[in-house]
Amino acid sequence: MRLRHIRGAEEAIEISPYVIGQPEQYRGSFRSLFGDDHPIAIEVGMGKGRFIMEMAARYPEKNFIGIERYSSVLLRALQKRQELELPNIYFMCVDARDLAEIFAPGEVERIYLNFSDPWPKDRHAKRRLTSPEFMKVYDRILKQDGQVEFKTDNQDLFSYSLESIPGAGWRIDASTRDLHHDPMCEGNVMTEYEMKFSSMGNPICKLIASR
Ligand code: SAM
Repeated sequence: MRLRHIRGAEEAIEISPYVIGQPEQYRGSFRSLFGDDHPIAIEVGMGKGRFIMEMAARYPEKNFIGIERYSSVLLRALQKRQELELPNIYFMCVDARDLAEIFAPGEVERIYLNFSDPWPKDRHAKRRLTSPEFMKVYDRILKQDGQVEFKTDNQDLFSYSLESIPGAGWRIDASTRDLHHDPMCEGNVMTEYEMKFSSMGNPICKLIASR
């Protein structure tokens, strides 16, 4: 995603009722934020948030938190969020590396990784959101029977993930390299990147992993 600093983004995020300003304060008690004990799903690197907002609208019996580290990107999601009346979704402007300081063990039921940055250079492999380093973080916050769902159109990142995830001690429950022509597509919610890349003819890959 091309990043441009947007003046006032930090301030808008600070005062937004849709952004959890000091998320560590809710560690172990996110249910108090939502006012119910519905399961919590998070999207790591939500971008402009199309996917997670659509999920929140579709599944009112679940709670959702969209995570995006750049304020200029999160601001775009906030603009859309203001038009929706949804009680079951919040955002956080944090780096996914810090998620284990934000969520208590087992507090998250499902983690969505959609079109994560590929970081093609070997020396940047640790930054990939499916690297063993990040899988360790997810292991600390995900419920025992929870799942990670990952979609991408980047074949190299997908091949890497099919190895790195089992290498980190996880199991691949299902996978496809052509989601839009596979039964795994049932109930699929498209992300911004998915709409863009599938319209260019790129096949979409998806895997679901658990421990
Ligand atoms: N998920 C969206 C989609 O599919 O349309 C956006 C995909 S975009 C390529 C990846 C997003 O992940 C970017 O907005 C980036 O800032 C965010 N991101 C990457 N690494 C992150 C991290 N460590 N923590 C939080 N967000 C991250």
